[in-house]
Parts: sequence; structure tokens; C-alpha cells
Amino acid sequence: MSPARPTSAPTSGTATSGPLTLPDLAAIDIGRLQGVGERKREKVAALGITSVLDLLTHYPHRWIDRTRMVQVGDVRPGDDAVLLVTVRSVTKRQPRRGRPMVNVEAGDGTGRLLLVFFNQPWRERQLQPGMEIAVSGKADTYRGRLQLTNPLVDLIGNRVGRIVPVYPQSEKAGVYTRELADWAEEALTRCRRRGLADPVPPDVLARHGLVDRQRAVEQIHFPDAMADVTAARRRLVFDELLRVQLALVLRKRALEQESRGLRHAVGGELVRRFHERLPFPLTSAQQRAIAEIDADLAGPHPMHRLLQGDVGAGKTVVAVTALLTAVEGGHQGALMAPTEVLAEQHAAGVRHLLADLSVPDPGSLLGDRPLRVELLTHRTTAAERRRLLAGLQDGEVDIVIGTHALIEEGVRFRSLGVVVIDEQHRFGVEQRAALREKGAGEVLPDVLVMTATPIPRTAAITVYGDLDVSVLDELPPGRTPVTTVWPTGPDAEEVAWAKVREEVAAGRQAYVVCPLVEESEKLEVASAEETYERLAAGPLRDLRLGILHGRVPPAEKQATMDRFRDRDLDVLVATTVIEVGVDVPNATVMVVLDADRFGIAQLHQLRGRVGRGAAASWCYLLARPDVVESPRLEALVRTTDGFELAEVDLELRGEGTLFGVQQKGRNDLKLASLRRDREWVEVARAEAFAIVDADPHLAGHPQLAEEVRALLSEEDADRLLRS
Ligand code: ADP
Ligand code: MG
Repeated sequence: MSPARPTSAPTSGTATSGPLTLPDLAAIDIGRLQGVGERKREKVAALGITSVLDLLTHYPHRWIDRTRMVQVGDVRPGDDAVLLVTVRSVTKRQPRRGRPMVNVEAGDGTGRLLLVFFNQPWRERQLQPGMEIAVSGKADTYRGRLQLTNPLVDLIGNRVGRIVPVYPQSEKAGVYTRELADWAEEALTRCRRRGLADPVPPDVLARHGLVDRQRAVEQIHFPDAMADVTAARRRLVFDELLRVQLALVLRKRALEQESRGLRHAVGGELVRRFHERLPFPLTSAQQRAIAEIDADLAGPHPMHRLLQGDVGAGKTVVAVTALLTAVEGGHQGALMAPTEVLAEQHAAGVRHLLADLSVPDPGSLLGDRPLRVELLTHRTTAAERRRLLAGLQDGEVDIVIGTHALIEEGVRFRSLGVVVIDEQHRFGVEQRAALREKGAGEVLPDVLVMTATPIPRTAAITVYGDLDVSVLDELPPGRTPVTTVWPTGPDAEEVAWAKVREEVAAGRQAYVVCPLVEESEKLEVASAEETYERLAAGPLRDLRLGILHGRVPPAEKQATMDRFRDRDLDVLVATTVIEVGVDVPNATVMVVLDADRFGIAQLHQLRGRVGRGAAASWCYLLARPDVVESPRLEALVRTTDGFELAEVDLELRGEGTLFGVQQKGRNDLKLASLRRDREWVEVARAEAFAIVDADPHLAGHPQLAEEVRALLSEEDADRLLRS
């Protein structure tokens, strides 16, 4: 420790002796390392590294094995070469016209080569004769000499050791891999005296052949052999996943064990009548999901279940069945959607499904009254809202459908029995909890979360790991997969409009989805109106067009939808308001404008509006003209399988985006990949259950508890980690 620097006071919760825990490492400022001066400290902070924990979890992304390096003498033109070379001379040239150029002569014991850098004048300062550097790039010959043009360069410094770590570095921030390696080495050396604590029970480590934490951290930075990297990575991946799973499993078990739920009577008259009147039989997947939900509803603990299923799989019927089960027993149901438009559409859809159903009412002449379904959003007028809130409080309203407005102060239920949340990645754990708390006193309502986007299982148990999962893995019969086309070239649009005209001539209908303007509903509405005018005056001149967007008043919206359903309109020009809930089997074409602006999940959801009948259907994705490559659009053209698309989405967007905004812990997965480490997600989940079931508040695992605490909100931590 540098005597010149003040030592920071020990932070509460960290010990001053004994093996170092992660909170201990997090409490040591990076500036306390000898190599890190004030200027460097600011620079590494820009990389998000302020503590020794941050530094040690800034993992190398590659390692260079000196003994297995290719030598310059063996490189042939055309090879992708990774070479360890020593810089011999550096010269800068500025041709009279053309780009500045830095030429670097370099070599090893077996030969020499030229490194040529265009437009990187700073390389002259960066690369000094005598330096050892790792370079990679495609080998080439120029005037008979071996050359790499604009290679990637890692300044590994004059590190001894067989295997050299290469860190994600930032030349812009002025932090180099050799510095990161030096600091990591210093930190590890200084940690060695006290050693790193290992909070994971030894039997768990033994069961899965995992090395201890001290060894894992040392070997991931400075491995003795490449095989040690694999073992180290496996252990650290397990740690990350175990922490996340412990947090989720603690939450799940606490919900199950600490709270009382209603014991609903399932399979009653109301539900029976509802199913009887459906114009189709339930699919076996729907029956299975309903049975799973029924078992939860009938049990003493509140349900906490995720209903997952592809677009068009028929989640609505399952959700409505759960809501009706609550109503059947004299309780109420609530359905929360992420946007007003979705809430309005759900309300229309559910009312349609439940029209003519009545509920027992001993006070009325006939002994029953019509089932009452209401809509509550921020657009609900004050008078209407007052009336509705009164109805919720005295039990006159059976089912309420709405947005966040449902979780506000002042919304009280007489007896909230079942809550359905149409999640679509937009609500977080906290909002689910807020609605749950609208239950009566100690008794919590049963909660069903629906996701419209299928999620790969590993992601589901990481993001929704506090829930049980039901999957609708079967589409209702008689659907024809949608053919998706991405026309390109100057007449791309015309190709799509020709198809629209052709289908309309054959008695079918079409949707045109207008460009997405995420930031402003006003601009989006303007663009929808413009599209409508353009089509009405041009390519779709002779067809009957309707328009639908977020600013159309509800009554008019309903009228337009009805006209479309009744085939009084041929084409519906709309914004993403038609994303869910719109169900017109006669519509067989969809054209999406500026499709490249939409996400995979959203396009998949939109596309689900066609292909709902037996007739063949098409979806035309029109990208903006400058888009020549789009893995997203290509994926949609390739497959209609929602799970496959979800995998692609995960791949393209990274896993961080899966977690809700409020969800802590999304940054905790630094090494673990939900795709690559699939089986470890399962292992960690199983071990988390075993640990929590034997020790429900981790009282016997104080260090593990401390590490999990970092992933929880303060309130959750106090509740879940009582010691
Ligand atoms: P999701 O919400 O899962 O995307 P919906 O609940 O909107 O799907 O259902 C899609 C369409 O399938 C609706 O028209 C619905 O009436 C219909 N549907 C639902 N279940 C069945 C079934 N078992 N057989 C035939 N059609 C069904
Ligand atoms: Mg739906």
C-alpha cells in the first residue's frame, strides 16, 4: 500500500481481516493501486471501473499464448494472422494527396514484416521501437514483402509469462490492455495475503467440478494454460448465474410461503358456459395451461405464473378463463396492458368474448345480472372514473381492464381475485408487485403474466425466474403460415401494392402499417395521415381505405374496426395500434412501411394480424431505400417460428435488453451468456432452489446473502434476507 495515499475508512459491512468478499473488493477504490494515479483514475472511471471489484471483473476477452503463436516465417499471404512481434522502426508519411500513413517495421526471430496504418497518425506516438505488440489482420504482400494493412494492435507490454491477457481496452479513453494487466496483477498480488472468500458451499463446487474462487479469478486474468481459462470462466459464470437465481428463487419462495391467497373454486358454471359458447374447441395446449392455472387458483398460495405463447396461440381465452374463475367465486378480475391503445383493444376483445354472460345477483329480480367489464386508462373522464372506482369498490364491476392507471392510489377493489398482466417486456417486477398489493389485506390475488413474445427458456428463467411458466406451444388448427417478402429495388413498393390490389380483387382485405415514430405520437399520426392520403390518391386509388391511429377517438376507432370487420373497408391504414387484439381472418396481406425501424418482436407481433384464417397470407416488409442489409428482416423472411425469432433477437440485441429497466442485476451477467451457458443456467437454478429450500433466508450463508443483496432493492433485501 502506498504510504503517501490516505487509506479510506472501512465501509460498513466490510471486514478488515479474513478472506476478502466481493463487497470488500467493491469498497477498495481503484486509486489505491500504485499504478493508478489521479489522471489514470479518471480515465478508467470512464470505462466504468472505480473499485478493485470492477477491475477484477473487467475480464480479458482474449489471451495470447506465446508458445502457440504463429511465427512471422510461417505466415503466407491470405492468412488471417495473429502475431507477437517487436517494433523495430516507425515512420510517418504524409503523401501530398491522400491519407496520412504510418509504416512500422516489425518482426520476430523468424522474419520481418511491414505494418501499414492509414489515417491513424497517432500510431507514430503509440508504437515505439523495442515494444512487444500483438497484431492481427489479413496478411498480404506488397512489392514482394509481407504486410498487414490496418491490423488490430494490442499493446501487451513486456509481460513475462506464457499466456498474456488481452483486455477490452479503450484507445479513446487512453487505457491500454498492458496497464489493465499490470493493475490486475497488482490487485491480485495484494489480495493474496488475505485471500478471496468463497461463499459457495464446497459440496456444490465439488458436484459440478468447479474450481475455488481465488483460483478462478487469478486464472482468468493470468492463466497457466489455456485449459485453465475454461475452468476459471466456468466457475465465474456459475457465480453470476447463481446470484441471479438466488435472488429470483428467494422472491419466489417468499411469495409462496409468506402470503395467503384465495382458494378459488375452479371449473364452475360461468367458465363452463364461456367455453361452451366459443366457436371453436380449445387446443390441447390451452387446456393444459388452463389446468395448470386452475391448480394454482385452487391452492392456498397466490399464483405467480407466466403464460407464454406465440402470436395467435390463443392466450386471451386462457387469461379470460382465469378472470372468470375469480368472478365466479364473487371476486373481481383485472387485466393490465402496457399502453392505452392495447388496453382499449383488450377491453373490446374481452367484452366481445363475454357478451351475454351473466353473473349471480341475489338482489335482482331474475337472480342474476349482466357481467360488467370496464375500461380504466388515463383517458377515462373524471366523472366516468368516479363511477368506475365506486363500482370497483362495491363489487359491481366484475372485470376491469386498463393501463398503469390501475395501480394508482385511489383504485380499490372490493375483492380482487385474479390479476392478468399483459407484459410485453414493459412492466417490471415492481409494477407487478404494485398491482398484487391491490388485494384485500393479507390475502394476495393470483397473478398471471402474459408475454406476447416467446422467450427462450433460459432467458425466461433468468428474467421471470420468480414465476412458474405455462407455455402455449401449439397454434389453433387451420392456420396457414404467412409468406413474408422483403422486396428491394426501385419498384419494391409497387410490388407490394400490386399484391394488395390483387387480394382485394379476390375479396380479401389488407393492412398497411405506417412508419414508426417512437418519440412522438403527434408525428406518427401525421405520418399515418400522409400515408393514407398518398395511397388514396395513388396506388390504392380505387379501394376503400380506412385509417386508425392513437389519436382517433375511441368511438370512431370502434366504428372503423367494425367497418373493416364487416368488409365495408378493403384496406386499413394504421399505426402499431393494430399490434394486438385486431382479429379479422379475411385480411390476408400486410404491408409494413419502414419495416427496418421496427424490432423483431414487434414485426412478428404485427405479422400475426394476418394468417388467421385458412387462406394463404402475405407480409411485405418495405425497408427504407438505403437499407441493404438487415439481419432482422432476413430472420422474419426466413421463419415464422416465434421461438426461433426470439433467439435471433436475443443474439442481435444482447441479453441486457431482456431485463426490465428497474430490474437490478442486469449488469451482473458479465461473462455468462444465456445462449452459450444454457446448461449452467439450469444448474444454477437447481442449486439455488436447493440452497433456499434448506435455508429460506440465507441465514447460514451470510457471504452469499451479501452478494445477493447487491441485486435486490433495499426493501426486498430486508424482506428476503432476514437473518
Ligand atoms: P394471442 O393473444 O396468443 O396472440 P389470441 O388470444 O388473440 O392470441 O387468439 C388469436 C385468434 O385465435 C383469435 O381469433 C382467437 O379467437 C382464435 N383462437 C383462440 N383459441 C382458438 C382455438 N382453440 N381454436 C381456434 N381459434 C382460436
Ligand atoms: Mg392477443
